[in-house]
Parts: sequence; C-alpha cells; structure tokens
Amino acid sequence: MKHFVGIDVGGTRIKAGLVNAHFQVLNEEVIWLEDADKSEHAVLARIVEAVDAVSNTQAVESVGVGIAGCIDARRGIVVTSPNFPAWNNFDVVGRLKKHVSVPILVDNDAHCVIGGEYLAGAAVDCPDLLGFTLGTGVGGAIFLDGRLWRGIRGMAGEFGHITVEPGGPLCGCGSYGCLEMYCSRVGFEYLCSRDPVEGTDKQSPHLPQQLAHAAQSGNVTALAHFNTAGTMLGRTIAGLLNSLNVNNIVLAGGVSHTFNWMKDAMWTELRKRCYPVVADAVTVRLGTLGDKAGIIGAAMQWRLQD
Ligand SMILES: [Zn+2]
Repeated sequence: MKHFVGIDVGGTRIKAGLVNAHFQVLNEEVIWLEDADKSEHAVLARIVEAVDAVSNTQAVESVGVGIAGCIDARRGIVVTSPNFPAWNNFDVVGRLKKHVSVPILVDNDAHCVIGGEYLAGAAVDCPDLLGFTLGTGVGGAIFLDGRLWRGIRGMAGEFGHITVEPGGPLCGCGSYGCLEMYCSRVGFEYLCSRDPVEGTDKQSPHLPQQLAHAAQSGNVTALAHFNTAGTMLGRTIAGLLNSLNVNNIVLAGGVSHTFNWMKDAMWTELRKRCYPVVADAVTVRLGTLGDKAGIIGAAMQWRLQD
C-alpha cells in the first residue's frame, strides 16, 4: 500500500504523520518549536526531521505541508505567514527538495484541515462545502463541485476576517470587528477582557473549555459570550450562503467542541439574515477527525490539486 507524509506546521509545534491510502494515520510525531527555532533554516530542519521520524524506513509517495498564512500552493511558496514573519515569498518547497527526494506540496493549514474532513471525515460526499477552523483564530476553506477553491492568491476561505461588526475591536489583520474577534480563542479573550467570567483565565489556551464549563454551571456572562460568538458565526455563514448557496458547513478546530453553546444563536441569526430556501438546505456538521484532520489533509493534498 502507498504511504504519504503529512506535516502540520503551527506557531509552536510541528505535527507529522504517516498516512496510508485508507487515510489512516500510522505514525505520529510532535516537535515543539522554541522561539530560537523559528528561523527559516531551523524550521526547515525540524520539518525534515519530522518527515524522517514518521516515515522511518517506509518508502513514501509524497510529503504535504500545511502552514498558516497566504500560501501559493501552485508554486510551492509561502507568500506570508503570521507565525513566521521572516518567510516572505519563501520557496519552502524548493528548499525542502534539497533534503526530501519525493514530491512536496504546501498549502494553507485550514485548507488542509477541511481537506482532511472532506476526504475522510465529516464532509465525505459533500462536494459543495464551507469549512471553518475555529481555533486560536478562524480559518476556512471552500469546496465547490468537489474542488478546493483557493482563489487568485490562495486566500479563499479566510472567513475569520469577514467584518461582522463594523465598530468592533481591532483584529490582528488590521481591520475591525472580524469574525475571528468573537468566535475563536482570541475572540473569547476579547469578550472576557470586556466582560470577565469568574473562574476563567482569559490568557489560557484552554479558555474556550473553561467558558464551556462556566456555561454548564449556568454562568450568565459565559452564556452571553457564547451567544455573541454564535450570532457572529451565523451572520458570517448567512452572507456566505446567500453568495454561494452550498448545502454543507463543517466546523473543525478546538473551539468547535463548544459549538453546542453557540448553536441556537447561530441558527437564529442565520435564519434572520439568509433566504429561507437557502437556510433550509443547509446541514451544519462538526469535524470528526480532530487533530488528525490537518495531517491527513496535508498528506493527501495531491488529491485536492486542480
Ligand atoms: Zn481580521
């Protein structure tokens, strides 16, 4: 059976996996990146190390890499990445080729996560699909007629930076009131700085889970924050559905595990702002692959090529 390597490069760690043709992840490795390790050279060396660690002696067909940011997948170039500011028009595939002898592909990390769910998870048999990655921030991907729509510059699916509140808070992208500022870990941090929730630490990576715990105990402020996040998500999805009229939405990423607390507000807002005939056609699903989605989607990128 053929095997493929998938690498998910985050800001603090590299996750790697060996994936077979049945989309099973056989070996997994996590390599943590210290701040000193974030130079171009050091990150490339860690990626090569990860490829070697998971493939071991197994022959592989290709290596796929997912990285946050603006990625020119056709040319194998990282145009910009928020995690690695020095990587401007960085020829990551060209550089990796010197160390890895099989074909290498690179794409945006959210495209890989939703690609994984599309190939092997919640969105199998969903050729018309909008996928959201709700994590530290918000990313996404668009599938139309079974094809990943990357856009002219690879930026299609950046749903996190759709304006949902024109007078809202400043976002990392430079705009104001983006979806990401409400419906992500960063968004919950903003909401909690405006209106604190007892028993939560707004700086904690586990803030969404802490808020869910507070909501479970009936904390009114926590419930209000989920209400706000769900409303903003519904507003975003309504606009997208009125544009694209797809019938499937997939929500992946750590914050999607708290969706139960947002879903009523999301549907209320979605129905308020969307044609009924469009809203009625939609199914919202949660990702089923968890952390493995990004590895599987990265490894199987060749299946998502034009
Ligand atoms: Zn933004």
